[in-house]
Amino acid sequence: MSPPLRIVIVGGGSAGWMCAAACAQVLQPERYSITLIESDEIGTVGVGEATLPALRDFNELLGLDEAQFLRETQGTFKLGIEFRGWDRPGEGYVHPFGAFGELWGGVEFQHFWLRARQQGLDPPPLEEFSTAVCACKRNAFDFPSATTVLSTFYGYAYHFDASLYADFLRRWSRTRGVARIEGQVVSVAQAENGDLTSLTLKSGQQVDGDFFIDCSGFRSLLLGEKLQVSWDDWSHWLPCDRAWAVPCERSADFTPYTRSTAQKGGWTWRIPLQHRTGNGHVFSTRFISEDEARATLLGALDGRAQGEPRLLKFRAGRRAQAWKRNCLALGLASGFLEPLESTSLFLIQKAIQDMLRLLPTPEARGVDERLVREFNRLSDGLYERICDFLILHYTANRRFGEPLWDHVRDYELPPSLRHKLRLFEARGHVPYFKDGFFSRDSWLAVLFGQGLMPGAYDRLADFMPAGLLDARLRELHARVAAHVTSMPSHADVIERHCREPWIAQQVAS
Ligand SMILES: Cc1cc2nc3c(=O)[nH]c(=O)nc-3n(C[C@H](O)[C@H](O)[C@H](O)COP(=O)(O)OP(=O)(O)OC[C@H]3O[C@@H](n4cnc5c(N)ncnc54)[C@H](O)[C@@H]3O)c2cc1C
Repeated sequence: MSPPLRIVIVGGGSAGWMCAAACAQVLQPERYSITLIESDEIGTVGVGEATLPALRDFNELLGLDEAQFLRETQGTFKLGIEFRGWDRPGEGYVHPFGAFGELWGGVEFQHFWLRARQQGLDPPPLEEFSTAVCACKRNAFDFPSATTVLSTFYGYAYHFDASLYADFLRRWSRTRGVARIEGQVVSVAQAENGDLTSLTLKSGQQVDGDFFIDCSGFRSLLLGEKLQVSWDDWSHWLPCDRAWAVPCERSADFTPYTRSTAQKGGWTWRIPLQHRTGNGHVFSTRFISEDEARATLLGALDGRAQGEPRLLKFRAGRRAQAWKRNCLALGLASGFLEPLESTSLFLIQKAIQDMLRLLPTPEARGVDERLVREFNRLSDGLYERICDFLILHYTANRRFGEPLWDHVRDYELPPSLRHKLRLFEARGHVPYFKDGFFSRDSWLAVLFGQGLMPGAYDRLADFMPAGLLDARLRELHARVAAHVTSMPSHADVIERHCREPWIAQQVAS
């Protein structure tokens, strides 16, 4: 039998520990050894608290108990993101994790809604046909039912404390055989063919490996610095380059959603956790100074700040290749898109899943370029579509007279986004990509939310007689409202669901 393939992970932030945990769960220990090196001296970025529903698949892959996970990370539920002032000041909308309406005769709901508007049936606002949006508006939460269709489909994600999440995964991984080395990597050795062979730590310890995973954060120690993979800069589309972050006391407004509020030079986030609220201000130094951005953040808190704000610096973009030779980068080491739609942890999760599918085996240790190309193709597609989605939030705005917002309204869009916008404006269609991101409903939420209105609808929606259309719209609207009215509050569900098992048992008996 071949000796185990030695996997060495550099970095113990969310990327490093998510990767270590998934490897420990999926790979046979007699075939793969996993070592993670992290430096207490350097620390982690310490943010990254809002997620997408796909994280539940990741937790399922690890076999995590949801209640324990939420207890250990002080987590809460997330049904979507509220965008305040992104179209214009004083207005807002929710991007929900769920559908608007339902398919009728195989035709998408927005076309019936558009038809009803155009024919003077005066339908309720589109958002009132989304269970997730209506639940957000009432601060309500319930688990989606797997069997009964009560109203429209929805899903949920989590908010959690980033440091507690990394700690949790660290403990979880170490009990499953992941070796952890505390130390700072100071040099990286390469073979003649360019493959990485070993790392030397400040202590002088040498760590040999066959496959290296760079989770070293913005520095990109292995892929960027050692293998010299270039950086594709996307800051012409996403000009924000800094963030201030500070937690504050938990407020009474315990929302099952993230809030993102447009500001003069960027936007602020608000993430409710069990023990505190996470806050930050993402901004562009081309349009606002660091001091002004800090003051804006502190002025927007709805509880007392817990400590001084921390400044983080970044650039939008990604490495030209995420996998080169026997080194693959995850997380901030491979790229960064601002956290407007909570996509970074998702990108990490997806890259881990793709990596596990394409990873070399102990028998065939050499790098198979076909697998490398496939991984990079998948990664590129995801980054590009997410980038399009983020740009949409900026470019479709009516904040006239504000320099940042005027700039993003007028710049040249990537051709893929231009095509999407034209199709939507002409017929209310959103092109769908199987491997892509986000879902059609997510695009609809932001397109309509940013004030865009198609000129026409899909003529297939004309198959339904007007009287029946009116009746079905009213029935669905009432069904969504009744379902949401019956939901408990988000705070109650957290309180019940996250109780220690022994308390839950006592309450039940
Ligand atoms: C302002 C901001 C807000 C964000 N919000 C969200 C969000 O809401 N949702 C979301 O999904 N994502 C968010 N992200 C992204 C998210 O924080 C990161 O994707 C995630 O935390 C992963 O980080 P990382 O593990 O790649 O890097 P880091 O956390 O920086 O970890 C890097 C690791 O490498 C180690 N290291 C570095 N150099 C060396 C060395 N020489 N030797 C040994 N070890 C070394 C460090 O010690 C550390 O352990 C946000 C990011 C920013 C900047």
